[in-house]
Amino acid sequence: MSREAVLKVAINAPLSRLFDYLPPSGVSTPTLQPGCRLLVPFGRRTQTAMLLEISDRSELPPAKLRRAIRMLDTEPLLGPAELWLIRFASDYYHHPVGEVVAAALPALLRQGRPLQVPPQVLFVTPEGAAEDLAELQRKAPRQAELLALLQAEGSVSFEELDRRLPGWKRLRKAFLEKGWVEPGGPHQSFATRKKEIGAHKEAGAEPLQRQEGPPLNEDQAAALHAISAKEGFRVGVLDGVTGSGKTEVYLRLISDALGQSRQALVLVPEIGLTPQFVARLRDRLGVEPVLFHSSLGEPERLSAWRAAKGGAARLIVGTRSAVFLPLPSPGIIVVDEEHDSSFKQQEGLRYSARDLAVLRGRELRIPVVLGSATPSLETLQRCRDGLYERLRLPLRAGKAQPPLLRLVDLNRHQPADGLSQPVVEGTGKHLAEGGQVLVFLNRRGFAPTLICQGCGVMAECGRCDARMTVHASSARLMCHHCGAVRALDTQCRECAGPVRPLGHGTERLEEALQNHFPEERVLRIDSDSTRRKGSLDRALAMATSGEGRILVGTQMLSKGHHFPRLTLVVVIDADQGLYSTDFRGTERLAQGLVQVAGRAGREQRQGEVMIQTAFSSHPFWSELLQGGYDAVAESALAEREQAGWPPFSRLALLRAAAIRREDAQAFLAAARKRADALNPGTVRILGPVSAPMERRAGRYRAQLLFQSRDRQPLHRLLRTLRAELEASASARKLRWSIDVDPGELF
Ligand code: ADP
Ligand code: ZN
Repeated sequence: MSREAVLKVAINAPLSRLFDYLPPSGVSTPTLQPGCRLLVPFGRRTQTAMLLEISDRSELPPAKLRRAIRMLDTEPLLGPAELWLIRFASDYYHHPVGEVVAAALPALLRQGRPLQVPPQVLFVTPEGAAEDLAELQRKAPRQAELLALLQAEGSVSFEELDRRLPGWKRLRKAFLEKGWVEPGGPHQSFATRKKEIGAHKEAGAEPLQRQEGPPLNEDQAAALHAISAKEGFRVGVLDGVTGSGKTEVYLRLISDALGQSRQALVLVPEIGLTPQFVARLRDRLGVEPVLFHSSLGEPERLSAWRAAKGGAARLIVGTRSAVFLPLPSPGIIVVDEEHDSSFKQQEGLRYSARDLAVLRGRELRIPVVLGSATPSLETLQRCRDGLYERLRLPLRAGKAQPPLLRLVDLNRHQPADGLSQPVVEGTGKHLAEGGQVLVFLNRRGFAPTLICQGCGVMAECGRCDARMTVHASSARLMCHHCGAVRALDTQCRECAGPVRPLGHGTERLEEALQNHFPEERVLRIDSDSTRRKGSLDRALAMATSGEGRILVGTQMLSKGHHFPRLTLVVVIDADQGLYSTDFRGTERLAQGLVQVAGRAGREQRQGEVMIQTAFSSHPFWSELLQGGYDAVAESALAEREQAGWPPFSRLALLRAAAIRREDAQAFLAAARKRADALNPGTVRILGPVSAPMERRAGRYRAQLLFQSRDRQPLHRLLRTLRAELEASASARKLRWSIDVDPGELF
């Protein structure tokens, strides 16, 4: 008896290994290819599985091997390059490969839906369009009605047909037979795909107008040359302040790739996908970008994924998960704002899209561009090590001047409602001169908490070690960590004394600014004020036009947007970052400040930035004010080297969270014991320790920190440890995860 093939498949389950199955009955070996999905029995259910390997042997005795039910794809959904990335990510992040596959696929594909959806649009063919309606009206009035509609519109969605001509489906067969309509399908016309892709039109269908860009300045030209001079993989780090012309360089590089009929993938931070940025790409490249981000509906996600795989999507702009999109003819990958922490996924598969983008580029042998005004220290160190090439754009393109930074010492100028006198005066002055002012505070709500004036007790969340934030407009207290909400207390819950809001958030600032400047339009932009659909776009339009003259906002406003009239940026509170316990605190603070400062004065006028601080003599300030981000980065790198923090070491966290504190601690203590036994001696293990905010959403959190100068010993240890933890009974009773290259150490 000839031995049957054994299929090694990945299943979306928290287990690292592959699962063995026999091919579905009647399916011959040649049709089995890695990258195809299968339906398999799994426990008592059926599951979608991804075929990764075909082998001739199994660890399982033949009698125990189950047979797959059927193939879900006739052609591989994932090619060798995508499969490579998935296996790499699984290996590097010590995450079950089935869950990595799941993270890399849109939900509909994960659930086993076909890649090709049945067309949902009816198109009139040239024959149908030429058909004589008058004649048809006499013979078959119902048919004439449908044809008239199609002739008028060219194409009509099934949904609309159902609404306008109920019962139209009975005519469809006749229309297809007569060749009057085309339902789309595998040989879809451009127009069909255009409809399907939705908001993003089909690339190349009707060439859009292309706008010419400005001639590049010397630095831009040098950067462009460095990246595009030779074929193949390399990483160019475009390092230049906002307005220095990084996007112009991306545009040239992308245009070259498109010119060679290759695809370009642009990764942006979560809040970087602004209409302005997308419109600029479209206008300049003459191609409709295909968007891929978390607020797409599942059908749109699937259609964007399909367009990427089919090559119809030539320019893809997406947030971190877009790094997994299939690219049959890759040309270039751009990561804009590469330092942004949103490129790192914080749950499930904890990957860095920036790091995976670089590895993908190497594997695909294409250039990768990392752009930032404030490159991460990891990236800067790689430039120093000669792995990446740092390409500086030191000047603001065009005529814009760099903004003037100024500290406001809060010890000398007591703030009222968060605003110091110099800030109020500065705001008044800029407004009087016709400028626009952005007041930045990364804390939404009215006040960080409510305090009792009698006993001093503050409003705490019942499920977290955190205070509840006061939201005045909705008269509620809200926990920003677990989402718990309750009505605003009118008196102290402990002593029934009078309560008042303590500290300030964006809502309170908005109110204070409105009081100071009653004539002006104050526009608050944060995730509370922009919850309703369309409200963010409206607010941004008002901010861009200058109609909102005072803008109050969180991080949402600090990135990606271009407000031509903005001349003053006020940073209300920079001190939180100054004394952060996280080793990345200084880096993040400097990045945030440079980022928000970059909003000021991009065109005719020099911008000004006022930063309120109670610690104006902290060395950070003299570094930043005199040497800019470079100086801060320089000394932060020296500090990191001395302390042995990344990029001079590798970190990983083993986190645990349980309803009972003891469970999390005991699990980690046992893990620590095992890790010590596995440790070749070069990995430093710290903990278990409780997370700084120990209880969150009712769970106690603790962690073990692993630190190693070299990657290999750390990863060997984690691999074995992970396998042992997976197999242990205690691991099933709580939540635990491994985070490689963690973004934050909490
Ligand atoms: P960044 O991406 O670094 O913020 P942009 O590429 O958006 O910078 O450039 C900022 C502004 O300067 C844009 O309006 C852009 O059109 C303009 N610009 C960029 N490069 C040049 C150049 N070489 N000559 C003239 N204007 C330029
Ligand atoms: Zn909470």
